[in-house]
Parts: sequence; structure tokens; C-alpha cells
Amino acid sequence: MFFSNLLVPILKNNPSEAKIKSHKLMLRTGMIKQSSAGIYSWLPLGFKIMKKIENIVREEQNRINAQEILMPTIQSSDIWKESGRYEDYGEEMLRITDRQKREMLYGPTNEELVTDIFRNSIKSYKSLPQLLYHIQWKFRDELRPRFGIMRCREFYMKDAYSFDLNDDEGEYSYNKFFLSYLKLFKRLDLKAIPMAADTGPIGGNLSHEFIILAETGESKIYTDKNIFEVNHQNCEINKISLENLRKNFDKYYAVTDEKYNKIEFDKLVKKEDQLETKGIEVGHIFYFGDKYSKPMNASVDYDGKKVFVKMGSYGVGVSRLVGAIIEAKFDEKNENMIWPINVAPYECVIIPLISKSDKTNLEKSMKVFNKLKENKIDTIIDNTEENFSSKMKKFNLIGVPYQILLGKKTDDDMLEFKKVGEESVKLKIDEIIKIINSKKN
Ligand code: ATP
Ligand code: MG
Repeated sequence: MFFSNLLVPILKNNPSEAKIKSHKLMLRTGMIKQSSAGIYSWLPLGFKIMKKIENIVREEQNRINAQEILMPTIQSSDIWKESGRYEDYGEEMLRITDRQKREMLYGPTNEELVTDIFRNSIKSYKSLPQLLYHIQWKFRDELRPRFGIMRCREFYMKDAYSFDLNDDEGEYSYNKFFLSYLKLFKRLDLKAIPMAADTGPIGGNLSHEFIILAETGESKIYTDKNIFEVNHQNCEINKISLENLRKNFDKYYAVTDEKYNKIEFDKLVKKEDQLETKGIEVGHIFYFGDKYSKPMNASVDYDGKKVFVKMGSYGVGVSRLVGAIIEAKFDEKNENMIWPINVAPYECVIIPLISKSDKTNLEKSMKVFNKLKENKIDTIIDNTEENFSSKMKKFNLIGVPYQILLGKKTDDDMLEFKKVGEESVKLKIDEIIKIINSKKN
């Protein structure tokens, strides 16, 4: 409840080792601390934001009836040998030998492990589809970890897997995740473009990357602006509705620089609709049929016949999203981070003017705090003795979306209430509660 009790090691200046703003700001506001190259501890402020993002991811997965499981971080090499990826995956895989000299690895992804769970649990086609997901740490020994938690070695990912009887049903599952991702990024107040993508080392034949716009993104993107007009709000979870939604997106040109071709771009997109910008990949979905089920013998019984199940996999970079939101929403002019209220570390901060001799504002803060708490508003009181304006600056930087200021002339009924980046207004506590709660979704 009190800022003075939190572990938030704020730095006076931007750290010089950081190149992009999310990395700078996350270090500066004590959200993360590097422990070794590409490996970070998450301190209370950063951890809280990540957990809020994780919960929204979870809600959106549950909404399409995906089931949550938890697979371990450490895997046996045996299943990777079965799929044929043990050698193929290369140096990004962190290999470990245990005391019995068994070859283990820190999972970079979980297709093999989840296929092993499936083949031991499901026998009949009547149990299909199966949509499974988990939210777990991954390790990839990236050649050049950089940009803080945006491209690190240990990172937090939601990965989901679908199992179906045939390609038609498999594509239906794929499209459910497609919609679920659109809803997720909308709730995070991000503009995400689903971009038909190459399938890369995971292989397969259908894939989309979800890219959000940000000047500092690693991928250059070329798209038709009209893609932002496609509306998914009324899409229902049935085959036809989902297929149409995908078609509505796929008809627009949207590619990263690997696939970009100027002649094609000019031919397909009117000059005034062309958008060339940069983006960050926050999600990636694949449909790859029986690529893993065949070598790993994951099948169901269908009319007395053995059928290899058709699979897809669906990733979201939960930890990367923390940085991606900063990159996409940072207010350059005022130097404020901007958190959508759903994931802000706190929804509201109470900033009382206090001095050694006069603590009345602190008592008042407690009253306001309790009232907000009763109404489920996640609040913090800055009880430090820093001066008023540096407290305000600090919380502007951290990006807590709403502030209640208790200064010299605060009366009991009308409180000074401020949205980050806007002028303050005088409001009754009940009105403040209404405003804050109306912004959540
Ligand atoms: P990239 O092209 O950025 O390396 P990828 O194609 O290897 O990503 P996937 O295997 O599809 O990534 O993983 C799913 C999601 O996990 C990505 O969309 C991204 O958000 C996140 N992710 C992947 N690698 C990292 C990393 N090194 N650090 C942080 N997040 C990552
Ligand atoms: Mg990668």
C-alpha cells in the first residue's frame, strides 16, 4: 500500500547500456534487473505488469475453451530425437547433462512434450479437438541477446497446441486462436497486424505473425493501411464466421522485409494506402498438420482406422509484451510510460503532500485508499517525503494512469484528480471510482 515499502530501485538517469526506450525505462524504474547476459530478474513493478498481461492472455485462451496445463522447463532429449529436431534445433537449444549422464534440455518450445502427453492420454477421435496451453519460461540461447527482455535468453511464453482429426477441423482450431489473439491485443490496447508468415524451422503450411507497430521494432513492415479497418468485434466462433474474418485480413498486403517486393507492393496497394513502418513480433501461430504426430506416433482411432492427428501451435511472448507495450505507447514529449489500465502496475496513485510536522494528508490518503480498495481499484500511496512535484514526475514516468493529489488546500469532498498527461480536475471520490472502473475491460 505504501510506496516506501516497495522494492522499486529507481535510477536518476537513463542507464547508458540500454539502446531502446523500453530497456532504458525498465531498468530506470526498477522493473527488471539483469542477472547475466539475456537473463533477468523481474522486480515487483515489472513482475506485476507481466502477471496482469498473463492473466488477460489466460482469460482469452479460456474463452475459446483451451485447457490450461503446466509442462516442465526441463525436458528429456528422447522425445526430440523421436521428432528429429534434436540435431536440427542447433545452438539455440541449451543442452544439459544430469548426474546419470542423461541428455536433458531447457525447453525452447513444447511441441514434442505436448505430443507425448497427447499420445498417452487420448485414444478416440471423439475426444477431439483438444486445445491445450501453458504459460511457462522458455530458454533460447540467442546468438545476440539484446534490447533487454525483448530479445533475451530466458523468457516467458504462452504456447498453445491444437489436435484435430483432419485439416478442415485443424484450420478451424487455428482460426479460433487467430480470433483469440486479435481480442487479446485489443484488450492490451495494441494495434496488431496478423501477417501471413513463412513457417521457418517449426515447419508446416499455414502461419501468421502478429506484429504491433513501434518505431523501434526489429522488423520492417509494409502494409495496406486498410488492414486496420477490419473489425473482429462481431466475429462468432463458428467455421464460417472465422474463415471470413481470416479472409478479410489476408486480402490485404502485409509483409515483413524478408518477403517485401516493391513492384508487388506498388501493384497491389494504392500509393495513399501504403504504410512502411517498423514492428515487433508479439505472437506467432502455425498449422503444421502431422509434422510431429507422424514421427511421434500420435494417433486416434477413427472407424477402426488409425489416423495421425493434425496439429497447430500458437505462441505469445508474454514477457516481450511488457517491453512491446512501452515501445508502442511511450509518450515522447512528456517522457511517460503509458500503460493500458488493464495491465498498469497500479491503477491509481495517491500523492499526499506531507512534511515532518504535518501528517494530516497521510491520514486522508488512507481513507481514500480504503474507499478505492473497497471498489477494487489497485492503488498505491506515495508516502515518501520527496517533494510533491518529484513524486508526480516519478509516477508520470512509471505510467500509473490516474493520480489523486492531496496538496495544501485539499478539502474533504472534492479531490484533485489527474489522468497522466492531462490537466487535473476536482471530483468527488465516487465520481473518480466510476471513471477508473469504467475504463477496465
Ligand atoms: P523471433 O523471430 O522474434 O525470434 P520466433 O519466431 O523465434 O521469434 P516463436 O518461436 O514463434 O518466436 O515464439 C513465440 C513468441 O515468443 C514470439 O512471437 C515472441 O513474442 C516470443 N519470443 C521469441 N523469442 C524470444 C526472445 N528471445 N525473447 C523474448 N521473447 C521471445
Ligand atoms: Mg527466434
